[in-house]
Amino acid sequence: PPDVQELGRSTWTLLHTLAATYPRAATTNQKADMSAFLTLFAKLYPCWVCAEDFQTWMSKEKPVLDGRAGLGDWMCRAHNEVNRKLGKREFDCRLWEERWRDGWKD
Ligand code: FAD
Repeated sequence: PPDVQELGRSTWTLLHTLAATYPRAATTNQKADMSAFLTLFAKLYPCWVCAEDFQTWMSKEKPVLDGRAGLGDWMCRAHNEVNRKLGKREFDCRLWEERWRDGWKD
């Protein structure tokens, strides 16, 4: 089975990078594409318990698709939900763009 930790780190890199490169103001098509991606991602993520909880969270907290700022904050809140579940420190979502767009290494 996949290594849930390694898979998680790589996947968060992809997800936050997708948010960081999402348009500042998304078109109808771009919103539809991101919505479809996230829905399928939540079904197909190959850690089944993770995927199930993520789908449940997404059904309550709809993706914010208007543009980069909203999507980035939504992704940060999604990640914090998992951080809380795992007893990890929460990330300050005011810093998501500094971490994932401008870039810092940890
Ligand atoms: P990660 O949590 O992988 O974070 C990587 C880096 O992201 C951090 O070093 C930090 O710089 C940055 N970061 C941290 N929090 C945020 C944030 N809120 N916003 C922006 N940047 C942030 N693991 C399980 O054991 N059980 C689960 O149910 C589970 N569900 C998951 C669901 C999804 C959708 C994903 C993608 C992963 C899930 N994981 C789950 C994996 C888990 O979230 C971690 O990736 C894994 O435990 C490795 O953690 P880490 O401490 O190396 O850092």
